[in-house]
Amino acid sequence: MVTHNLLKLSSSFDDILDKLKTGINNANVLNLQVGKKMKDDNFLKANNAKHLWHPMGHPKDSLEKPPRIIRKAEGVKITDIEGHQTVDAVGGLWCVNLGYSNDTIKEAITKQLYDLPYYSSFAGTTNAMAIEASFMVRNLFAEDGMSRVFFTSGGSDSVDTCLRLARQYHRLKGEPTRTKFISLKKGYHGTHFGGASVNGNNRFRINYEPLLPGCFHLPSPYTYRNPYNETDSSKLAQNIAASFEDEIVFQGANSIAAFIMEPIQGAGGVIVPDPSFMTLMREMCDKYGILLISDEVITGFGRTGDWSGARHWGVKPDMMSTAKGITSGYYPVGAALMSDKVSEVFENDKTGEGTIFHGYTYSAHPVGAAAVVACLSETERLDTKVNAEARGIQLYNGVTELAKRHNIVGDIRGGHGLMLGIELVSDQNKKTPLDNDHMKKIHQKTYECGAMVRLGLNNILMSPPLTISESEINQILEALDEGLTAF
Ligand code: PMP
Repeated sequence: MVTHNLLKLSSSFDDILDKLKTGINNANVLNLQVGKKMKDDNFLKANNAKHLWHPMGHPKDSLEKPPRIIRKAEGVKITDIEGHQTVDAVGGLWCVNLGYSNDTIKEAITKQLYDLPYYSSFAGTTNAMAIEASFMVRNLFAEDGMSRVFFTSGGSDSVDTCLRLARQYHRLKGEPTRTKFISLKKGYHGTHFGGASVNGNNRFRINYEPLLPGCFHLPSPYTYRNPYNETDSSKLAQNIAASFEDEIVFQGANSIAAFIMEPIQGAGGVIVPDPSFMTLMREMCDKYGILLISDEVITGFGRTGDWSGARHWGVKPDMMSTAKGITSGYYPVGAALMSDKVSEVFENDKTGEGTIFHGYTYSAHPVGAAAVVACLSETERLDTKVNAEARGIQLYNGVTELAKRHNIVGDIRGGHGLMLGIELVSDQNKKTPLDNDHMKKIHQKTYECGAMVRLGLNNILMSPPLTISESEINQILEALDEGLTAF
């Protein structure tokens, strides 16, 4: 391939970068370089979904209605194979926090590929970028009490790392019977067996049962629908705290390792708890010696208007699972974080039982770590949490205005940074969830009118890049206004 030879002849990374940029900025050069290798649009359309199974999709549906082919992205906008451009109100998948055009991350990844494309971080070796990345991640979450970092390849890995290390922590402390986990209904914690077991949505569970034994679920702090029929968020928080205590006593406190929750439930519909909720959960965990894991895979790195979701509620967790915004989606990386309370137990162990027999080939991957260093430098330089907060309020207020014209809007949830959920119903009084066909029509119309949104059951979910501008938020709102008329 021409690009490859071009790079081989280059003497320095800057040289390489210049040549790459020249090539990439010049469509003719690019065609020359990769044209022979790339298949044309007809091939792509003919083969779409024929060989590739898609996560969270039915293979039969994908064959009948092949997925949209996204060709390129710039800023906060994506363009499909037909040339249709929209604002990406999903931010990839809650992850492209810095938008699609961050050259600092792209260059860091490219450079690292030439310096050291891979080396293992299993005990005995490490790499420069991993050391720097761990320093930066720890610093970013020092205010949350985090002091140690364990790198993974994504959110599901990070969740499972926390669950496994929570059990090991209790064994090291001489309480090996603490093996169970408690979590919230409507929570999403990834799709590994551990994460799926604490997952609070049965769509992700039923076909894969039996899951991990010893996992129990509490009601979600979801005021729109809950078993107590409680619309007051603070009273609902107290009810759930009481259920938590009841469950702990029933199970036996000394059988429970950890409680895991998202500070704001994301995939479950953007469910924002009462400000007291996480504190109540923290207090209950402390009372019964249970570790609190804050799943910050979505809420970390500025999305909620602060660097972590837990910080928003004034809570210091014992462990945190992160991913997504750690590289803005440019490279698959996650991290599990440990507080002093947890890390000291491992680090002070003299029996050998503190050895972490857990990890991934790509833990602390040098290219991933380079992406982390660049992404977090940019995240801090741009102070993305500030824009997330301002644009989040604009989006929330805008949707609240739209709801006055569209009586299918049953509930709007958000107001904390750039996470928004709109629950659609066909009957306001009965709260009948809007059916799937109508949801799909709304999605399609919104897309045609200029915004990509995400569907989660009868919810429209939005999590645009944190770098989004005021006018781009307006574009989302205008497209959504049109989309909601498709009902
Ligand atoms: N936890 C939460 C809170 C998530 O939102 C997700 C993914 N959306 C995960 C875990 C799993 O992350 P991944 O898809 O990267 O494995």
